Amino acid sequence: MVRVPVAVETPQHAGLDTTLDYLSEQPLAPGTLVRAPLGKRELLGIVWPGEAGELAEADLKPLAAVLDGLPPLDPAWQALVDFASGYYQRALGELALSVLPPELHKLDGTQLALRLRKLHKAMAAPPDAAGADAPPAPSPEQAEVLAALAATPAATPVLLHGVTGSGKTEVYLNAAAQALAAGRQALVLVPEINLTPQLEARFAARFAGRRIVSLHSGLTPAQRLRSWLAAHLGLADLVLGTRLAIFTPMPRLGLIVVDEEHDPSYKQQEGARYSARDLAVYRARLQGARVLLGSATPSLESWQRANEGRYRRLALPSRIGGALLPRVRLVDMNQQPKDRGGAAALSPPLVEAIRQRTARGEQSLVFLNRRGYAPVLHCADCGWKSGCPHCSAWRVFHKLDRTLRCHHCGFTERVPRACPECGNLDIAPIGRGTERLEEQIGLLLADTDGTLPRIARIDADSTRLKGSLEAQLGAVHAGEVDVLVGTQMVTKGHDFRRITLVAAVNPDSALFSSDFRAPERLFALLMQAAGRAGRSAEHAQGAEMWVQTWHPQHPLYAALRQHDFAAFAEGQLKEREAAGLPPFAHLAMLRADAKQAEAAQGFLQAAAELAAGLPGADQVSVYAPVPLPVARVAGVERMQMLVESASRPALQHFLAAWVPALHGLRRGGAHKVLRWAIDVDPLSI
Ligand code: ADP
Ligand code: ZN
Ligand code: ZN
Repeated sequence: MVRVPVAVETPQHAGLDTTLDYLSEQPLAPGTLVRAPLGKRELLGIVWPGEAGELAEADLKPLAAVLDGLPPLDPAWQALVDFASGYYQRALGELALSVLPPELHKLDGTQLALRLRKLHKAMAAPPDAAGADAPPAPSPEQAEVLAALAATPAATPVLLHGVTGSGKTEVYLNAAAQALAAGRQALVLVPEINLTPQLEARFAARFAGRRIVSLHSGLTPAQRLRSWLAAHLGLADLVLGTRLAIFTPMPRLGLIVVDEEHDPSYKQQEGARYSARDLAVYRARLQGARVLLGSATPSLESWQRANEGRYRRLALPSRIGGALLPRVRLVDMNQQPKDRGGAAALSPPLVEAIRQRTARGEQSLVFLNRRGYAPVLHCADCGWKSGCPHCSAWRVFHKLDRTLRCHHCGFTERVPRACPECGNLDIAPIGRGTERLEEQIGLLLADTDGTLPRIARIDADSTRLKGSLEAQLGAVHAGEVDVLVGTQMVTKGHDFRRITLVAAVNPDSALFSSDFRAPERLFALLMQAAGRAGRSAEHAQGAEMWVQTWHPQHPLYAALRQHDFAAFAEGQLKEREAAGLPPFAHLAMLRADAKQAEAAQGFLQAAAELAAGLPGADQVSVYAPVPLPVARVAGVERMQMLVESASRPALQHFLAAWVPALHGLRRGGAHKVLRWAIDVDPLSI
């Protein structure tokens, strides 16, 4: 019998070593999948490179099975997982096993062999190569980008900065064609599942004859396993997916595209809080692949790397076909008539502009980042408000199903008929969500003869049922809708052909957020939203983006009017540098949850004291613990503590000593926290 180190899914807090040793009848290559006994269970494991430990052979258990029907996960995959585990401070086994398809955990050798046989059979014949779309002749700007790309060594990450509709996807398709022609595989990441079908159709049309698979959490477990196996076995040439696809083993990987690279959904928000965008850059280097990050509004991290020359920046400054970007119009809400004490949902000039669009058979899109009817119900007599009993948040009034719903913990009740405190019958909604906006727009646009505009609403509530989003988008595309109301869900990616007006109803709050990234996100959102207007050349002429604001002088809006991302980025980067914020500093956030705020705070304080004694502590700053913006959710108090360093290696070095010590702190039991977690490069502060 030989000893083999195996990565198994041991809980982070169990404090077990990175790998456990098992006995095998023959030596096994690292990356081989096995089934290993652990306690009373039998788990999926991965043979890991490295030295076996010291334990006496009598104390080791033999492996239950070797899944040798599957080739081992390649060394580059192992290195990626190793890196991610170290960088994001999660146990190796936990991370390695959590990024494998869930279905794989359930199969024994026989079942796996059966799946593999089926897969090989299904993929024996190459897909039909007839009828592939020919690529269009590149525009002069695209031609320049493609030439520059060809002249850039694969080892240099490329940041493709192109306005919406500038033909970035066409550049991705071209880069993918080159990778495939060289016999390599390509991985294309998009931020949202909703965007995968559209992209898949486009890639499928171009690459008929090539095998394309998708990987995202919307697939059935069996489908996800199939896609994963096809990629790992090299049967699939192209993988399209969301962030989880970054861990797909692809032995011939030659290209990684990260579309909308600035999008926050590339950051995993639980477990190992990895950034798929950042891992893409790392992985490309490991596998000698090219990495292409694309966006109309790149993250300031990537933008700064391009400024420093570490990434090559390529630009597509104009829209395909010469269509103009929509004209941006700011409505100064201070100048607008008041409506019963508050401003009307839409200012009169905006109402008029939408009316004109409708009359011409064009469409308008109005967005507001808040769903439900109103964010809070209020009793004017006694001051009662619709708070959530379990959270430090208001419950949102949903008029359609007459409920009060907490958007943090889900707690839902029927709307009371009278004030629960004083019995007053006249409880009133304050503020506005998409449901109410839809209603108000209906009233504002109703014609004197009583004809109503055709309004559709798209948000998380209206699209809960499977297929409803597709149906609603279909109605918009078919021209059956005059005004589309929605949350930011409708601002991303969709290729609406008839929308010529986009309006942001109330975007100001992000200007004054305590999160230093809020302006960056707002700018990206507004640019994305503007990109939904005037996408077809015949309608582009009069396309407009309206922004209702109480702060029309704000520099963010000035840059937006000019569609000037570079100016906006420069301003933000100056502020960040002066304030010592990313990308000029590196952050980690320690979060702790407990029944009592004092317990969470106590844990963080103890962690801070521990930190002070560690080597390298002089190179990091540990800030005071603070509650999260919504401090209590579902009866749990949440606190966080920021750690900052001017040097990424120094921060990493410090975390490598600190995090293991924190496990000890928790095991010591002095602090009754329910859980804690470290978030390296946190996105929300
Ligand atoms: P982006 O990804 O930057 O939003 P797309 O690649 O989707 O831009 O291009 C926008 C539109 O222009 C699409 O309908 C696309 O088919 C079309 N397009 C892109 N490049 C060309 C080209 N070279 N010639 C003609 N049409 C093009
Ligand atoms: Zn009351
Ligand atoms: Zn709640």
